[in-house]
Amino acid sequence: MPTLFEKIISGELPATIVFRDERVTAFLDIHPAAPVHILIVPNKAIATVNDIADSDEALVGHLFIVARDLARQYGIAAEGYRLIINCNSHGGQEVYHLHMHLLGGRPLGPMLQRL
Ligand code: 5GP
Repeated sequence: MPTLFEKIISGELPATIVFRDERVTAFLDIHPAAPVHILIVPNKAIATVNDIADSDEALVGHLFIVARDLARQYGIAAEGYRLIINCNSHGGQEVYHLHMHLLGGRPLGPMLQRL
């Protein structure tokens, strides 16, 4: 079964795509948590960070390069932003297709409540 994000990447499901190349697709999150909330997704389905192979090193690096460029493009690079990758249930992962959240456009507050 293709993942939700594979369906977005293939065009089967609609999304506002803001960047695409042969390795990565980036689109707006459907429930934004900040003025800028973009999901940066490898075109190849990798379920979680646990499933990244050593041979995916360049692909994973590319996610950061795309995030850097989108942050500049959306005017949030100077003031700053947050990149989040959730993994499995304790990480709060909902969609099991690796993705990086790019969040910004307002102060985002502390990352987590401290113990
Ligand atoms: P996760 O919790 O897995 O790290 O993040 C999944 C993200 O996907 C959530 O922020 C959620 O709002 C977003 N999302 C879920 N379904 C859709 C959808 O159909 N389209 C888009 N654009 N985003 C989605």
